[in-house]
Amino acid sequence: MPLHEYIAEDPAKGCELCRRPFEHLDRQPDHFLKSCPRCGAPVRRLPSAPNITQGHTTLDRRAREAGFHKLKRVGKGTYEKEY
Ligand SMILES: [Zn+2]
Repeated sequence: MPLHEYIAEDPAKGCELCRRPFEHLDRQPDHFLKSCPRCGAPVRRLPSAPNITQGHTTLDRRAREAGFHKLKRVGKGTYEKEY
């Protein structure tokens, strides 16, 4: 089931749920939420976020954020710190 992000068309009139982007699991791929499941305010779908949870770059970034360092081998027994 696709997970979509929604936000109230007019966040000022939304409830605490739809005033900010919220995720909703749509039961059918082509069925989009038109109103907030909690307060019924009109909502619009946010463009889906690019998939950044996969890929080498992300792993590198996460390793860096976690405080790991990556060493690049530049010669025999010699390593250069990439970050
Ligand atoms: Zn709402």
